Amino acid sequence: IIELRNLCKQYDDLKVLDNLSLDIKKNEFLTLLGPSGCGKTTTLKIIAGFEYADEGKVLFEGKDINEIPPYQRPVNTVFQKYALFPHMNVYENIAFGLKIKKMPKDQIDKKVREMLKLVALEGKENRKVDSLSGGQQQRIAIARALVNEPKVLLLDEPLGALDLKLRQEMQIELKRMQQKLGITFIFVTHDQEEALSMSDTIIVMNKGQIQQMGTPEDIYNEPKNSFVARFIGESN
Ligand code: ATP
Repeated sequence: IIELRNLCKQYDDLKVLDNLSLDIKKNEFLTLLGPSGCGKTTTLKIIAGFEYADEGKVLFEGKDINEIPPYQRPVNTVFQKYALFPHMNVYENIAFGLKIKKMPKDQIDKKVREMLKLVALEGKENRKVDSLSGGQQQRIAIARALVNEPKVLLLDEPLGALDLKLRQEMQIELKRMQQKLGITFIFVTHDQEEALSMSDTIIVMNKGQIQQMGTPEDIYNEPKNSFVARFIGESN
């Protein structure tokens, strides 16, 4: 569904992406895994259109999307920090993107209710978002990103701010949502256990390059080089 072709990105002297190429399949749960600073977030930002590569292309279903502004791309992003609207309630936060599109009220209502069900927040629609827990706020952020029916959801360490128990619960829920909706998830984490438990495909990155691409089993059982072996073997 998405092809990255020879992406290069440099900030001053720092090469952040070094000729990175990658094919992302439709409906897969793909994880970019690697140490801090290896270029994971930059890759997501380039796919989302928040950053541009110095060289290389992003293709969506075979078409170059370089000229398409972020809000018109068939992708949506969930960040680690929820970036919700604090003065709005849960319902209004989820409905926001649909109101902007001037969707009729009854259709908005139907979609928001579907999303509330998906993220298990039914009954909380009138609550102010800052009265909810971190996990609940993250669910709102996910609902808000999914309500526009993106073909691809980008998730940048979405569980990073949650405590361990909640994190494990949300890992299972995210996987369930992805399977239920049948859309492509591109998930960024530096946590190898999280990557191993959730992904169909893992991309291990270091210094802007792909070290290995494979299923969790491949990566765990047959690390391709000493970097991958060390990174997978480390505990957090
Ligand atoms: P993390 O897990 O810490 O977010 P990451 O793998 O997602 O790491 P990136 O955020 O892609 O890494 O950043 C890669 C490198 O590029 C880092 O060293 C970062 O400091 C640098 N960088 C990112 N954005 C900018 C910017 N706008 N200007 C200058 N340097 C930047």
